[in-house]
Amino acid sequence: MILIKNSRVARLLSVHAIVLYPFIFFADKNPDQVLLNHELIHVDQIKRHGVLKFYYLYLKEYFLLRLKGKKHYEAYKGISFEEEAYRKQNGTRNV
Ligand SMILES: [Zn+2]
Repeated sequence: MILIKNSRVARLLSVHAIVLYPFIFFADKNPDQVLLNHELIHVDQIKRHGVLKFYYLYLKEYFLLRLKGKKHYEAYKGISFEEEAYRKQNGTRNV
């Protein structure tokens, strides 16, 4: 896995960070630990499911939520991979 900080890719996509395995692009020069944890949880999910299946399931959930009428941010937050990442990003377990 390769961390790229101060990334134009992330800024072009208007995100703080994005995992395009095996790269993690961060918009900031010094991403904070919580953001780093969040993205590493996605890397763990990719290792659990496989690269193609992870992105397929991620996008499928996103578009199904959009079809149900959710706005972009709501749909994004409703993706099960994001729910897990937000739940675990602070390092607390069993929350
Ligand atoms: Zn995420």
